[in-house]
Amino acid sequence: MNVQDGIEYVDETSPAHIYVLDDGGEITLIDAGLPNEAETVLAYLARTGRKPEQVKRIVLTHRHGDHAGAMPALVRATGATVYAHADEAAALAGQEGAPARIEPLADGDVVPVFEGLRAIGVPGHTTGHLCFYLPERKVLFTGDALINRGSLTGPVAQYTADLSRAHGSLREKIADLDVETLCVAHGDVIPTGVAKQLREVIAGLS
Ligand SMILES: [Zn+2]
Repeated sequence: MNVQDGIEYVDETSPAHIYVLDDGGEITLIDAGLPNEAETVLAYLARTGRKPEQVKRIVLTHRHGDHAGAMPALVRATGATVYAHADEAAALAGQEGAPARIEPLADGDVVPVFEGLRAIGVPGHTTGHLCFYLPERKVLFTGDALINRGSLTGPVAQYTADLSRAHGSLREKIADLDVETLCVAHGDVIPTGVAKQLREVIAGLS
């Protein structure tokens, strides 16, 4: 599914979207889906005329299995380098077949995709949860910090380690960003004009 020029997500993964950033043929994936979804990702790449070796990076928002499950299999198939917050690394390294090295990302780090994909620390859902932001395109990839299943909301309480911290992180780190396009992991992408809605939803979180 095309979001905008160079930004897509893999059709047919569930429950979480896997984003495909294609920067002149060099591909970065944001998140990796369930353990059994590597084949779905590889089939999507083949169908869209790409080779596995074009995937240079897999950037993870957090450790949960619906976001990181297929990471080991995708690394084996592509040779990609994995990036995640240091607080997620131990859990990620514990996955069967995980690569020996996971590149640590901290708040403010920039991954070299397009004009620079900025990691934003948004702890609470997990301690090392990251969102990713393209400031010139005004695109925010939310991971599980915000979801849009029927309506835009904060993280699902049941799966969130520290809900009040998660809400505080959204107020502190996300509310003032200039965002036009919201790429959630769960639910529908909001392709344009999300700024006001985003501010209102975050302001309404207790
Ligand atoms: Zn999660």
